[in-house]
Amino acid sequence: MSASPGSLTCGAPPAERVITHERGQREVFCGLTGIVWLHRKIQDAFFLVVGSRTCAHLIQSAAGVMIFAEPRFATAIIDERDLAGLADIDEELDRVVERLLARRPDIKMLFLVGSCPSEVIKLDLSRAAQRLSRRMTPAVRVLAYSGSGIETTFTQGEDACLAALVAEAPAAPAESPASLIIVGALADAVEDQFRRLFAAIGIAHVSFLPARRASEMPAVGPNVRFLLAQPFLADTARALESRGAQRIAAPFPLGSEGTAAWLTAAADAFRIPRARVEEAIAIPRARAVLSLERHRERLAGKRVFFFPDSQLEAPLARFLARELGMEIVEIGAPYLHRAHLAEELALLPPDVRIVEGQDVERQLDRCRAEKPDLVVCGLGLANPLEAEGFATKWSIELVFTPVQGFEQAGDLAELFARPLLRRELVEV
Ligand code: SF4
Repeated sequence: MSASPGSLTCGAPPAERVITHERGQREVFCGLTGIVWLHRKIQDAFFLVVGSRTCAHLIQSAAGVMIFAEPRFATAIIDERDLAGLADIDEELDRVVERLLARRPDIKMLFLVGSCPSEVIKLDLSRAAQRLSRRMTPAVRVLAYSGSGIETTFTQGEDACLAALVAEAPAAPAESPASLIIVGALADAVEDQFRRLFAAIGIAHVSFLPARRASEMPAVGPNVRFLLAQPFLADTARALESRGAQRIAAPFPLGSEGTAAWLTAAADAFRIPRARVEEAIAIPRARAVLSLERHRERLAGKRVFFFPDSQLEAPLARFLARELGMEIVEIGAPYLHRAHLAEELALLPPDVRIVEGQDVERQLDRCRAEKPDLVVCGLGLANPLEAEGFATKWSIELVFTPVQGFEQAGDLAELFARPLLRRELVEV
């Protein structure tokens, strides 16, 4: 299904949606995982996790094979030995950072990333970042954020990182022209496509947060409008708003419909006529609609169940239901930001079951009772569910893979079609 931007209607307005809350055991990665895609995006940044051997292990296994000549992340392991004194740890941290920066002059931005071992919680990494930044400026900026599993689920690591960037962003001069910031790490190819589309639509001043290089991070101020590219950026949006920038409300750019509505919302905010938008997006949108057709054949009528993980669940469910004809059994999400997701919630099928938070055992019971064709879940649940005979899709893959925009709509659909095809082949 595709609809003209601005004519999207379906389901119930968010205020009328019934959203169930669940609290119990959770099955999600921590925010350190975000480093895996953030270190690819900001090409002259380095992420130094201050953590335990567990943290080092998680990052190494999540990142898989290193593809760079020099790594862009590492873990400074703080163990019980260091409990002798916090001053010692501060000095040790300074020494580690100085050694790293002396050896790697290519690093222009260093993130100290906090974690959850108690030794690390006692450290004031923000103060350490300020201290080190003063010493290293202007060659290197040092920032800090937390990826601790106590405070963050896996996509919240990106939120914390971007919020730290906003706090340090330069102020946009009052006389500068109105500009647009796209917020959320996107693959470079996707960013380039959006840049071309915004230019064709007629929005002249567009920048991306995070930028590819430390020196290119956008300036922030009251003449800035911003458009979220990801639904998990609550703290970043709050940080931008606290500096006067205004959020443009929109669905997220997943699928042909979401992308068209997202671009149109930006154009509306800059008072660009709808006819110009329609003309600029007509060809790529038609390509996106076409690319979905063959996947629709496989996916229409199939039932999908979302476990809470990436916070992308609601926009993905909207895409699968409206553009591929799938039936949504349950949307589980770790958090639902009512304002940022208002447009998405309004587009979901009426009466779809939405559960915020997690009680994993109860959710597994519901999943088994419903027998969905496809389960979207974290890595920890995927293997046991596969063993029980369910086809699964790892939600983390939906964050790693370029899925936003018209040109990626077919690839996004394929990510859901592939596990079903694999299962069909296995069953033959
Ligand atoms: S931050 Fe916490 S949850 Fe994440 S890997 Fe380290 S110890 Fe584990």
